[in-house]
Amino acid sequence: MTILTPLEAARTAPSPARAAVLQAVSGVARDELAPLVRAIDAEGLYPESVMRAFGRAGAFRHHLPRLGETFDLRTTIDAMSRAGELCLSTAFCMWCQSALGWYIYNSDNASLHETLGPQVATGEVLGGTGLSNPMKTLFGIETLKLKATRADSGYVVRGALPWVSNIGPEAWFAIVFEREDGARVMAVIHGSGEGVKLTANDHFVALEGTRTFGVQLRDAFVPDAQVLADPIDGYIPKIRAGFILLQAGMAFGMIQGCIDLMEQVKPQLGHVNKHLPDQPEDFAERLAAMKAEVYALCETPHDLSREYFLRVIRARLAAGDEAVAAAHNAMLHCGARGYVTGGDAQRRLREAYFVAIVTPATKQLRKMLADLSA
Ligand SMILES: Cc1cc2nc3c(=O)[nH]c(=O)nc-3n(C[C@H](O)[C@H](O)[C@H](O)COP(=O)(O)OP(=O)(O)OC[C@H]3O[C@@H](n4cnc5c(N)ncnc54)[C@H](O)[C@@H]3O)c2cc1C
Repeated sequence: MTILTPLEAARTAPSPARAAVLQAVSGVARDELAPLVRAIDAEGLYPESVMRAFGRAGAFRHHLPRLGETFDLRTTIDAMSRAGELCLSTAFCMWCQSALGWYIYNSDNASLHETLGPQVATGEVLGGTGLSNPMKTLFGIETLKLKATRADSGYVVRGALPWVSNIGPEAWFAIVFEREDGARVMAVIHGSGEGVKLTANDHFVALEGTRTFGVQLRDAFVPDAQVLADPIDGYIPKIRAGFILLQAGMAFGMIQGCIDLMEQVKPQLGHVNKHLPDQPEDFAERLAAMKAEVYALCETPHDLSREYFLRVIRARLAAGDEAVAAAHNAMLHCGARGYVTGGDAQRRLREAYFVAIVTPATKQLRKMLADLSA
């Protein structure tokens, strides 16, 4: 009998079926995440054991092309949403992890599919994505912060990124840097690689439990083996829709969590809350419509057409707007019980703005719509 290493087992194991993934993720969310939610928010606790358990449950692998028999963004989105119903910090960490896997398996670097890829897919290795600055650069908002010079079998990279989440000295994350000739390269880099310094300077009004670091690269060496795309021109269109669509999991979870809060206070406060213009049923109806559109878009994440990308942008914009509106209404419905420091509604309100400011932020999405429609 052949004995498989854990890595080989992860690579060859059939992906748990969609229903099994969602059932397992819901169980972990209820039993392990729910008790931590306040500490994640107030103390910046990073829910590492929960992330590992989600990984084992299959939450980070269904959307990965070339891995096993499934290729289904919806399961990954729905798993993220189950966590997001309780905690946006955790849902965002799940997105970071899922985005890293998405980059690896969309790359033509076959050796990463065999080495780092399976470890990211199972949550054995945690990681994230420093693509906010490149995504803003590609749409004419910023300039690229990382620059590189060519060296023997790799690149030497300098520069700094203000925030990268779900990382640490043991993690891997994706970066984009500019070559001396102006072409851009995307690669993965390790949190304690030579020349890599992680700093924890900022504190946030929410999302504190996301292990978010500033990243300084001081002549950090990136070997060719870690390159995802060089140059990135043909690769970015392949990953951009999935990058955006996967974020729907954060929004859907937030909206559902806020609907639940509004429903919870109905027995005591329904007689007066019914006069508020927005009711949980309204949000539920719009959420169902948004899900239908996102799931339809998830069928063809590699569609490169302008029309398809415009639909993706509109869906993401609606998800951000609706997440903020749902959290605002959860606060109005819950009243003072949501306004105390341990109240869920005030936490959800602080968290919800993150959906609207994480790249691509609402303002970037509106610029993209304006530019693409011009
Ligand atoms: C909790 C948290 C986690 C994040 N995680 C990630 C991640 O994992 N990966 C990733 O790539 N990005 C991450 N970001 C960045 C995020 O995606 C957005 O880019 C960011 O929220 C700002 O986007 P914006 O489009 O609103 O830009 P704006 O805020 O309008 O502008 C951003 C620019 O302003 C600069 N800037 C912003 N704040 C300050 C400040 N206090 N002092 C000086 N300069 C400042 C930035 O350097 C940047 O160049 C994170 C942000 C937050 C708040």
